[in-house]
Amino acid sequence: MLKLHGISRLFKSDEIQTQALNNINIEIGAGEFVAIMGPSGCGKSTLLNIIGVMDRPTSGDYFFNGVNVVGFSESRLSDIRKDHIGFIFQAFNLVDELSAYRNIELALLYHDVPAVERRQQVEAVMEKVGITHLAKSRPSQLSGGQQQRIAVARAIVARPALLLADEPTGNLDSGNGRTIMEILNQLNNEGTTIVMVTHNQLDADYAHRTINLFDGCVALESKRQSTG
Ligand code: ADP
Ligand code: MG
Repeated sequence: MLKLHGISRLFKSDEIQTQALNNINIEIGAGEFVAIMGPSGCGKSTLLNIIGVMDRPTSGDYFFNGVNVVGFSESRLSDIRKDHIGFIFQAFNLVDELSAYRNIELALLYHDVPAVERRQQVEAVMEKVGITHLAKSRPSQLSGGQQQRIAVARAIVARPALLLADEPTGNLDSGNGRTIMEILNQLNNEGTTIVMVTHNQLDADYAHRTINLFDGCVALESKRQSTG
């Protein structure tokens, strides 16, 4: 599904240059659940942003479903995000002026889904993540765990094939973190490809495979030990 070949990302400001990623080679197949780990500042978010075509590499090739998207225009990249990718962030990133329902529906407004179907899809996804009773609540009235479930619902309501999560349990207590991980695990079992950045080994244990970054390079790749 994804192939990164020789991907580097250099950030330049007036005086400082940061080599956030240095010659990354990764392949991720459809249906995989991959964790990305490594110390703070090693390039995890930069890598996830490039995978999600929110950022462009300085050099290298990125094949998304077999097509090199590196030279794509901003509007074609935005179509890829819209049609194929869902995002979940550590900080939830919900719109506080809108109810939970409207936050989720927002993700469908770019998709020209007719109103009746929109309602069916939003209701189905709220039920799936267990927040039907929170439809009318504003994010600020809710706990972190509830907010993250809204954010997950928003990320998956358009049924993306690829779900990207940047420390999705980073702001949650362990119980709520586990709930989110169980939801991600279920989505993966249903076929969604997941790439997740995490600091937490318990979260990484849900993944089939862990990619460890160090100083912008792949330091180690490991497969989950069979438990059974
Ligand atoms: P991680 O997510 O692993 O903590 P990041 O990918 O956020 O690491 O950052 C990797 C390196 O790139 C860090 O040194 C960071 O300061 C730098 N960096 C990230 N984004 C930018 C940016 N937009 N401008 C300049 N430097 C950046
Ligand atoms: Mg990060």
